[in-house]
Amino acid sequence: MPTLDFTPAVGDHAFTPQQSELLALAHALGRDRFAARAAQWDEEASFPFANYEDLRAAGLLGLCVPRSHGGLGADYATYTMVAAEIGRFCGATALTYNMHICSTLWTGVLADGIAMTEAQRAEHNRRRDLHFARVVKDGAVYAQPFSEGSAAAAGRAPFGTTARKVEGGWLVNGRKIFASLSGAADYYGILCTEDKGDEKPDARDTLYLAVPATSEGLSISGDWNPLGMRGTVSRNLGFKDVFVSDDEQLMPRGIYFKGAQTWPAMFFTLSPTYLGIANAAYDFTVQYLRGEVPGEPPVKRRMYPTKQIAVAQMRIQLEQLKSLFLRVVLEARPDPSKDERMRLYAAHYSVMEGANDIARLAIRTCGGQSMMKHLPLERLYRDSRCGALMLPWTAELVLDRMGRETLYEQGEKD
Ligand SMILES: Cc1cc2nc3c(=O)[nH]c(=O)nc-3n(C[C@H](O)[C@H](O)[C@H](O)COP(=O)(O)OP(=O)(O)OC[C@H]3O[C@@H](n4cnc5c(N)ncnc54)[C@H](O)[C@@H]3O)c2cc1C
Repeated sequence: MPTLDFTPAVGDHAFTPQQSELLALAHALGRDRFAARAAQWDEEASFPFANYEDLRAAGLLGLCVPRSHGGLGADYATYTMVAAEIGRFCGATALTYNMHICSTLWTGVLADGIAMTEAQRAEHNRRRDLHFARVVKDGAVYAQPFSEGSAAAAGRAPFGTTARKVEGGWLVNGRKIFASLSGAADYYGILCTEDKGDEKPDARDTLYLAVPATSEGLSISGDWNPLGMRGTVSRNLGFKDVFVSDDEQLMPRGIYFKGAQTWPAMFFTLSPTYLGIANAAYDFTVQYLRGEVPGEPPVKRRMYPTKQIAVAQMRIQLEQLKSLFLRVVLEARPDPSKDERMRLYAAHYSVMEGANDIARLAIRTCGGQSMMKHLPLERLYRDSRCGALMLPWTAELVLDRMGRETLYEQGEKD
């Protein structure tokens, strides 16, 4: 087993040989390539194309594509470990990488754990062959635009974007907001509702379709000048009678809805990015207080008891995040128990709010000079604020779910 000469963002653990190798790869890419470029994407609010070239060259676009299809065959937990390591060096790269990887993870390992009929399984296997080949052979990048500015992305209403069955495929109409990788992806893996004529739209009829970026009727619009995660370039997508062939179905009809119920851990995959950011804020603080930040005067601030206490508090919080994180990614499975589900929510909430809290403490502890734009801390602080806003598990909605699901068993009402 390769020995790691660093502590991974997820903490130390008895990693498998594959996990150690992938962590070493992600760490080296992040440290040697992504870290120095991160300020540029942030300043320009531009997409990290150069990082994607590196991910492609390293085979990491196919991280979760099964080995039988030419990918690296990483499982759920391994993906989250690699993603956290990338997030430590560039939040926007890790977050967009998540959108891409999920299109292979959900259709791969996760779909294997969703109940399907034999016919559905055969259809799914046939279609994902095509989609995996695009990633592995052509280096294709997938985005995951679900949000619409309605209750749909929160899982509380059917998606307003619709797909109507036509000869050989689907006709898509609607609009998505916050489409990370807009203008950079080769395929947009959208969630939409099957339009069955005059019937009432139903979330059970959610379709998961890959819309090729070159499709006629697909448009990208809107400004992108946000507080943080600026390199994600998450603009709006419009669909006007976009024809999508049958082969672009990423899951058989009705399976996405079942999948979301079977695999709550599928929504936890936004967390690793922010665990990476929490590590980065902590690492910077230690370096800064020791007077070891490259290019900065070697001023030590570590002798002040208040700094020592603050760093201890940050470490305690980080250890809590890492422990909870590792526990839930290692136990993730279809149809988790109630305790496992609650722990997943608790871990997601802790990471999303905790990352911002650690970044806040980092700035307070390091002081005024540390928040200058030439240093990474102020970017980490801004990026860390975004995690808790992401649907379907925003910090608010996690509290909402935990409270309700604790006090009400399934089917109970007042
Ligand atoms: C950097 C970044 C990148 C993103 N990338 C993507 C992407 O690639 N794909 C994608 O699909 N989305 C993406 N999103 C969007 C994200 O998942 C949310 O959809 C978006 O942040 C919601 O913003 P909103 O203002 O429209 O939320 P609103 O829907 O206005 O909700 C505001 C808040 O109210 C609460 N809320 C919402 N609905 C309910 C409800 N039914 N009941 C109770 N409370 C509710 C939530 O806490 C929510 O945060 C991205 C967001 C960010 C910040």
